[in-house]
Amino acid sequence: MIARVAIDLALDRLFDYEVPESLREKLAVGQLLSVPFGHREARGFAVEIGEDASSSGRALKPISAIVEETPFFSPAIIALVRRIAAYTAAPLESVLRAALPAAVLKRNARAKEMLFVEPVAIDSLAQGAALVQGLTTRQRWLYEQIVRLDGGWMAGLCSELKTTNTSIRALAEKGFVEIVSRAKRRNPLARRRVVPSRPLALNGEQAAALASIKSLCDAAQLGARARRPLPQEALPQGVAPPPSALLLHGVTGSGKTEVYLQAIAAQLEKGRGAIVLVPEIALTPQTVQRFASRFGDRVAVLHSALSDGERYDEWHRIRRGDAHVVVGPRSAVFAPVANLGLIVVDEEHEPSYKQEDNPRYNARDVAVLRGSIEGAAVVLGSATPSLESWLNAQRGKYARVTMMKRAGAGSLPDVRIVNMAMEPGCPIFSGVLLDAIRLRLDRGEQTILFLNRRGWARSVNCEKCGHVVTCPACDLPYTYHRADNCLRCHVCGGWAPTPERCPSCGSSNITFRGMGTQRVEAALAKCFPRASILRMDADSTSRRHSHDDILSAFRRGDAQILLGTQMIAKGLDFPNVTLVGVLNADSSLNMPDFRAAERTFQLLAQVSGRAGRAELPGEVVVQSLDPSAPAIVAAARGDYAGFAARELKDRAESFFPPYCHLAIVGFRSQDIKTVSRWSDMYAQSFMAFARRNASLGMHVSEAVPSALEKADGWHRWQIVLRARSAAAIISAWRWILACRPPPGNLRVAIDMDAQNLV
Ligand code: ADP
Ligand code: ZN
Ligand code: ZN
Repeated sequence: MIARVAIDLALDRLFDYEVPESLREKLAVGQLLSVPFGHREARGFAVEIGEDASSSGRALKPISAIVEETPFFSPAIIALVRRIAAYTAAPLESVLRAALPAAVLKRNARAKEMLFVEPVAIDSLAQGAALVQGLTTRQRWLYEQIVRLDGGWMAGLCSELKTTNTSIRALAEKGFVEIVSRAKRRNPLARRRVVPSRPLALNGEQAAALASIKSLCDAAQLGARARRPLPQEALPQGVAPPPSALLLHGVTGSGKTEVYLQAIAAQLEKGRGAIVLVPEIALTPQTVQRFASRFGDRVAVLHSALSDGERYDEWHRIRRGDAHVVVGPRSAVFAPVANLGLIVVDEEHEPSYKQEDNPRYNARDVAVLRGSIEGAAVVLGSATPSLESWLNAQRGKYARVTMMKRAGAGSLPDVRIVNMAMEPGCPIFSGVLLDAIRLRLDRGEQTILFLNRRGWARSVNCEKCGHVVTCPACDLPYTYHRADNCLRCHVCGGWAPTPERCPSCGSSNITFRGMGTQRVEAALAKCFPRASILRMDADSTSRRHSHDDILSAFRRGDAQILLGTQMIAKGLDFPNVTLVGVLNADSSLNMPDFRAAERTFQLLAQVSGRAGRAELPGEVVVQSLDPSAPAIVAAARGDYAGFAARELKDRAESFFPPYCHLAIVGFRSQDIKTVSRWSDMYAQSFMAFARRNASLGMHVSEAVPSALEKADGWHRWQIVLRARSAAAIISAWRWILACRPPPGNLRVAIDMDAQNLV
């Protein structure tokens, strides 16, 4: 009997070990093992267990020990991880690492046992009266207090009741309380007051959506039972979408979340669990609270702001089966929920579901794959679905349900497009927007303003010689930050003092061009001196809870205007907001990316969704230099289907996703010659491969500098590969990498289904 083990050294292969007699009974896939490796001991996960099939007859080293008997990965998750590794060309151990929060393996993240005091129940009044006789007045008082509080942690009781360990131990000796050692749960929701909520009566659209999801859940479960177990050796065949996904296309405020809640409740009743993925940025306390309010302690939360201890405890609560509903960002797709019935991917179009480091998986696709492996239904929800999912629905690979009406009070807002080219003097705010803000201030309503750039000014320019002050590590213009009067690079985070004179010609005629949130904030304060304004961007939210604090302050009505970057575009629900202003709708349209129009549409639709969510009607003002751009016009009309049809036609004609798979091969080096020479060589090799395998229909671009040509001192070049089959691209990649191993001063990586072309 042998075990195949993945060892955490990024070697991208499995190592075979003999299973000693003593471990045969206990050994299971997914366990953490200790194995001899070279001259030392290493840790690794058991990925496969089987007979020794090799006929080589060489002696294998035996496994030294099982570190923990309860497996960290179920066989289904192991199968999932192997498919991801094959699909993304990432080392298996890197996918295993991504699938398990690091804190879970940290010894010191384990909860310390603490003393807990429990009052001993006294059966009858008479017995109680007799017993209490044996206590002093002070002890009797103490006992009554502990009963009133229903016990508590020793340390907490001592400080709350102003008493000592010794006094409580004395009570324990007389049998009135018991002192036990217990691990205290580090609860990420402890700071919040969770008010239980009850299911709402659904409207017609919601009821229909719920019914479809429920029947999908049943079908998925049956389908999984009928299917044969997955073959152990997964071929890199791409993520084949099973029929167990449903696209829930519902406008903002159509009540998707309520549908998710009731669909999950139905699964819980059947003894099955659920995972809800939300974009990290939308993982606000408000979102988490809606799930906690409905499901209480059965909810576990996994997100990046948790402490190691909280993450450790939440993960173990899931694995033990104490929590059945997991809410978290992309990595929560790997949560060890047993008997999984449903995975919800909210805002499924969000690019943040794609991990930008190894392994470069897209949690939305992983969810669909996990659903098909485990017999769980997958619901992809969005007001503006990705074109990938939209096409899958059109082709019948996914079911589709549409919700066009707002569920609660409120209707969809009116959207006005303002042509900024017609406004005299390049102002920040158009006359229309200023009037609209003034009206809201008069009526005591709130306004949200959206701008895609933080800081003060986009660039610092010399008016005399035209010099633009740039970050030396990235060759990109610095952004001026007025709060601390310095220049910051938004790519590498580096900074420099603001020069008094032009570093190139010495002129003192230095100006700041373009606008960032800080500059808009100052301009707003000038226009509306009596309004109070909150700003939310990466600079104002760097402290741990500042994000929550700003949103709660705005919700309470402490400010009339909230100004922010894309952080404020998503998942927020403010009843008193009746105006949303988009200051520069073109900024995302002019990105050198085939998804620029799609992103602009999504952004405008999401931002507009913030207006008029309660009884008050909403208005949206979109400022643009290019007011007739199709993405802007369609977004203003709320015409997703029309936009998608037009955009899909373009994509089909130009052979871009979703009609093909697109991968970027990225090259990075600190030496510019190495980067350009090697990327060129790779491009030639890919082209040769494509010619030799013409039936694959592979398109290979020239090697070119990335849009972000230099970052943090690294020069970056890229090749774009397109083909109908992702597996074809990966096999070309593996072949070329083997033929031409890159030198030590060059990093090469492939990004399958890349989200950004920069
Ligand atoms: P979405 O997730 O689609 O953006 P939400 O679930 O946040 O929409 O719902 C928007 C608002 O409508 C929320 O305030 C919610 O409480 C309310 N709502 C949802 N469903 C109903 C319903 N059936 N009846 C009344 N109000 C509802
Ligand atoms: Zn100059
Ligand atoms: Zn920089």
